[in-house]
Amino acid sequence: MSYRWINKKDTCVVVKVGSSTLSFSNGKINLQRIEQLAGVLAGIKKQGYKVILVSSGAIAVGGGLLGLKKKPRSLAEKQALAAVGQAELMKIYQKFFEATGETVAQVLLTKDGLQEEVKRSNAYNTLHKLLEMGIIPVINENDTVSTFGIRFGNNDVLAAYVAELMHADLLMILSDINGLYTTDPRKDPSAQIIETVRELSPEIISTAGGSKNSFGTGGMTVKLDAARIAMEAGIDMIITNGKDPEVIRETLAGKRKGTLFTVHSS
Ligand code: GLU
Repeated sequence: MSYRWINKKDTCVVVKVGSSTLSFSNGKINLQRIEQLAGVLAGIKKQGYKVILVSSGAIAVGGGLLGLKKKPRSLAEKQALAAVGQAELMKIYQKFFEATGETVAQVLLTKDGLQEEVKRSNAYNTLHKLLEMGIIPVINENDTVSTFGIRFGNNDVLAAYVAELMHADLLMILSDINGLYTTDPRKDPSAQIIETVRELSPEIISTAGGSKNSFGTGGMTVKLDAARIAMEAGIDMIITNGKDPEVIRETLAGKRKGTLFTVHSS
């Protein structure tokens, strides 16, 4: 027996990419990586997978577009940059996906909206119909009306709620870290990747938490919050490095890298 998303082409995969995967460390947008990402997602969609992309990067793209040298400080400035950058980000996705023959749709959500019955059902209906129409939804938080993602620096939890809403089979979090380590790999050369987590035990939580071991953009603690939501919904979640988007295809072919959070036995 193997995990239900391995080579099971009609299953639903939610892929979340963070700003660190979409941009260089100097803040400039990494167009080549976005093009690769679009190529891989279009490829798995053509194989039959239902694909939903949750993408951050609006603030980074907005800052780049306006030629800002420094990172924005105030919340309002970040929101304004997100409003500028979101349109540009979609333009970039549209261009690269169009080259593969795929259509994308912009969907802006809020975490609260996914918990309120009517809004939740509206979001479900829209996403369900888009998938049925063969369109790839590209989701970000609506940063104008909600600052959850900006403040906590992370769309991981939003992606987990989307995965739960859409009864996805797999949530892949592409990050600038390789997975959950036993200790901080930047400080401890003997740190090992934990390949599979079946229970968010206090030990696992303390591995990720605390300033000593809280590494990676957005922090591992928030990623474990996402893992909890996914696991409670019976959805497998993988945290892996997004520097080579091919990792998505490899994962679906059963060649897994990173950390898998699962409540299933195999
Ligand atoms: N929604 C914000 C953006 O697109 C970022 C939230 C996050 O860092 O995940 O820039």
